[in-house]
Amino acid sequence: CGVFGVRDQHQPVAHLTYLGLYALQHRGQESAGIAVSDGTKVTVDKDMGLVSTIFSSHRLQALPGTMAIGHVRYATTGASAWNNAQPISRYAGGVYFALGHNGNLVNTRELTAHTGEGEAGSDSDVVAALLAQHMTHHNSDLADATLHVLPRLHGAYSFVIMDEARLIGARDPHGFRPLFLGSLDTGGWVLASETPALDVVGARTVREIDPGEMVIIDDDGVRSVQFATGQPRALCSFEFVYIARPDGHLAGIGVHAARRRMGIALAQQAPADADMVMPIPDSSIPGAQGYAQAAGIAYGDGLIKNRYIGRTFIAPSQQLRDSAVRLKFNAIGDNVTGKRLVVVEDSIVRATTLRATMRLLRDAGAAEIHLRVLSPPYRWPCYYGLDTHDRHTLVAATMTVDEIRDHLGADSLAYLDIDTMLTAITTDQSGFCTACLTGDYPTPIPGASEARIGT
Ligand code: SF4
Repeated sequence: CGVFGVRDQHQPVAHLTYLGLYALQHRGQESAGIAVSDGTKVTVDKDMGLVSTIFSSHRLQALPGTMAIGHVRYATTGASAWNNAQPISRYAGGVYFALGHNGNLVNTRELTAHTGEGEAGSDSDVVAALLAQHMTHHNSDLADATLHVLPRLHGAYSFVIMDEARLIGARDPHGFRPLFLGSLDTGGWVLASETPALDVVGARTVREIDPGEMVIIDDDGVRSVQFATGQPRALCSFEFVYIARPDGHLAGIGVHAARRRMGIALAQQAPADADMVMPIPDSSIPGAQGYAQAAGIAYGDGLIKNRYIGRTFIAPSQQLRDSAVRLKFNAIGDNVTGKRLVVVEDSIVRATTLRATMRLLRDAGAAEIHLRVLSPPYRWPCYYGLDTHDRHTLVAATMTVDEIRDHLGADSLAYLDIDTMLTAITTDQSGFCTACLTGDYPTPIPGASEARIGT
């Protein structure tokens, strides 16, 4: 998911939120929503689909106000359905508030038992229920309630939360998912999952929200509260591999440059005799460029991607993922016929799309396909915000590398190893979650029999 928040007393902010969400569309394509406050009430508009198809200028004009939060959703818990779209809104203790969540909690079941509301739709609903409960029973404001509730949450969260008067951002103590603070020339403040969403609204990136930090933005400016300290950092390493936009920075590291370094390292670790290095567009492009440069092999395009199709990995059902593949890619026959290809892919999760893509390249006349992957085998479920809970759908959990090579129809297959991948990202290899690649989970996972829990 992607989250965005803005507070600017000098202008209506629904359009800024729309632009910010547009820049975060890659983080979730199932639903999108905006909650806006005019100082007296909070209005929410959300729907299934892409930001651009949901919000017409007409619809944005119906959202007046100088403070807003926005959300694009990629379902991790709870079905892909309208009632799970965010922001979630509630009325409690005489106050309207709204919440957007990126990440996934691992103790939802335990928390649900305390809400007294029975089964909730998603982990984010449970958080809204806990906030409402605290505000009602303790007659507290939203900031106090948030400070009270956050320490009870385990797992991954970057939140944007607001009531009529204040905007709140919070990041879990491990910092699994990113969250940034930006400033506008007008004196306004912005929160966003990634820096390109700050760029697009003309905000200057001030800093990342720290793991375990909550910021409260109101008439007095920005106030920071560190609600948790001392937990090991665990920024999702997959943000660098696949999730984040290449034009952004995470933990001070440029994503595009990190992907390029992964490609250079992959060429050194797993060379191949070939005529052309090509990416599976788009997220593998910097890696393929790095590979080609390091290997001294020509870089070229072998596939054209239809840019008007969402990521198939993110589509909510297997059936949809299957049918989306042929629509998504087409081979450039003139570039691949008779060629020995190094095909660079960022990761192999379920392999559905990739298998069909390999067939496309073969049908277009590729002589050899040497598949090179910019990350290690994805063998373990993610409980922190990627929809890979079911281990049996992960191709590397059930097949050896040789079996995957044959399954995909490649002539050779090699993955980047974990240490090399982390070294390519940064010199300091601590501070990353690598659970889906190593099985070492930074937090306990209640009820997950297959999780090998790290320390
Ligand atoms: Fe990221 Fe993998 Fe950790 Fe999930 S398990 S947070 S995808 S590194």
